[in-house]
Amino acid sequence: MGSPGQLYAVAVGILLLAALGASVPVLVEIARDGLERHRERRTGELGGDADDEASDRTPPDSLEADTAGRTRVTCRRCGAANDAEFTYCRRCTTPL
Ligand SMILES: [Zn+2]
Repeated sequence: MGSPGQLYAVAVGILLLAALGASVPVLVEIARDGLERHRERRTGELGGDADDEASDRTPPDSLEADTAGRTRVTCRRCGAANDAEFTYCRRCTTPL
């Protein structure tokens, strides 16, 4: 065997190769998934995906704005606006 420095270099090299070998299947999987998504998007199979992203960006409070025209019941405890047909507050579950 060589000097401690050479041993260290060999050990690091083996570890690097092991890490590379372990990460290759993951990288291949990611690349394959990305290609699949790209292909599906191009063929229009992911037409609803854009809607999902839009709904993710919408804050939960927008629910109140969507139903602003309906009869609301304001929670006595937390002040959240609930639909009139709700029995319990949707935010703190206090009976309305
Ligand atoms: Zn409440």
